[in-house]
Amino acid sequence: MMNTNSRPLDVKIQRANKLLRIQWADGHNSAYALDWLRSQCPCATCREERLARVMEEASGSFRLNTGAPPSAAIVGAEFVGAYAIRFDWGDGHSTGIYPFSALRQSCPCAVCNPGGAPPLIAD
Ligand SMILES: [Zn+2]
Ligand SMILES: [Zn+2]
Repeated sequence: MMNTNSRPLDVKIQRANKLLRIQWADGHNSAYALDWLRSQCPCATCREERLARVMEEASGSFRLNTGAPPSAAIVGAEFVGAYAIRFDWGDGHSTGIYPFSALRQSCPCAVCNPGGAPPLIAD
């Protein structure tokens, strides 16, 4: 059962200012930077990538990044059932599924998260 605070009434992608805006059923509004969303991609590949980076930083070793940096441009988006949204990023990546409940918990506004948005927890 979905709470009104994780049910979106309206979802808009504003490419000009690189924001995803969600108006929630309880009246709250959230605005997510697309860069941040891209950096939080919850797919298995990106999660492993982030984990590897954390371990490298912890061990003090560095790896040359030879690949193109991930693109935070959005070329498309679609709802996954009623519970999540999936984005098509400009670099062709499209496997990350962002549950609305997780997005709401990571709302970057000062009311929801005065200390800044926590990492997106997708499961
Ligand atoms: Zn990903
Ligand atoms: Zn908020």
